[in-house]
Amino acid sequence: AGSYVGFDTITRQIEHKLLKRGFQFNVMVVGQTGLGKSTLINTLFASHLVESKGRIEPEAVSPSTTEIHAQSHIISENGVKLKLNIIDTPGYGDLINNEGCWDPIIKHIKDQHSAYLRKELTAMRDRYIPDTRVHCCLFFINPTGHTLKPIDIVVLKKLTDVVNVVPVIAKADSMTLEERALFKERIMAELQHHQVRLYPFDAEENDDEELQLNQRIRSMLPFAVVGSERNVVIDGKSVRGRKNRWGVINVEDERHCEFVYLRNFLTRTHLQDLIETTAQIHYETFRSKQLLALKE
Ligand code: GDP
Ligand code: MG
Repeated sequence: AGSYVGFDTITRQIEHKLLKRGFQFNVMVVGQTGLGKSTLINTLFASHLVESKGRIEPEAVSPSTTEIHAQSHIISENGVKLKLNIIDTPGYGDLINNEGCWDPIIKHIKDQHSAYLRKELTAMRDRYIPDTRVHCCLFFINPTGHTLKPIDIVVLKKLTDVVNVVPVIAKADSMTLEERALFKERIMAELQHHQVRLYPFDAEENDDEELQLNQRIRSMLPFAVVGSERNVVIDGKSVRGRKNRWGVINVEDERHCEFVYLRNFLTRTHLQDLIETTAQIHYETFRSKQLLALKE
């Protein structure tokens, strides 16, 4: 007794400071118009919006523009504040000639890295730099049941070079479970063939449990999801779902789709790792390239 120094309280101090500041999480959605990007984002987060109970929806834009829209929201759960930035990228893959349609998307991601680097070089070392770097890019795949389009491969390769990419099969309610399994297999084989490096990455400091978790995530990719902004009544309970002529789909039922897996992954198991990986891998790669270029 009496020899307790107390530095172990650092964990609580850090936690308290972080909790007070809140977490910044920036998610980008990429995919053709109409694939359900806005709907999925709302299914994931809208019920926890602090300021408005409304929809997360950037102003309508013409699909022929390639403008990027970022919208900030604050969501909160049990006193923990999450500053959520949704970056919508309308127009990808919508046009007849899609050559270069990915440029504004890649540019936006790099611009955030570049802004962060500028602040880092000028700001006082210990000052907090607001983080606009894109932590996760949800890539929406058309549920065709066939293969990816050549342009998807091109864009995925470019994206995975600069950001954590998580592919999802949109509107998975349009496929049977067999079709879905086959489609997933085909997509993963294609991505492997083209050496597309999806998130999550294994790091040296990962323990067995983390490695296993990553492996499990990889075996599930791409998440086949269904989104809905409506509630339907199933067995007397009101749940997020979609009703069609044949029956109802409960978005949160694992037998119906993989929405719950995506949500667990995004918000419960990998949120912090997505943020860290962005800083330690993607931003660091950008940073060392920039600094090297400065020296030459
Ligand atoms: P975005 O252009 O990618 O943002 O697509 P939206 O979220 O605006 O959705 C386009 C249309 O698809 C809307 O009518 C949605 O109700 C519908 N939709 C969204 N998600 C799903 C889904 O998972 N399954 C089905 N069947 N329809 C969906
Ligand atoms: Mg939209």
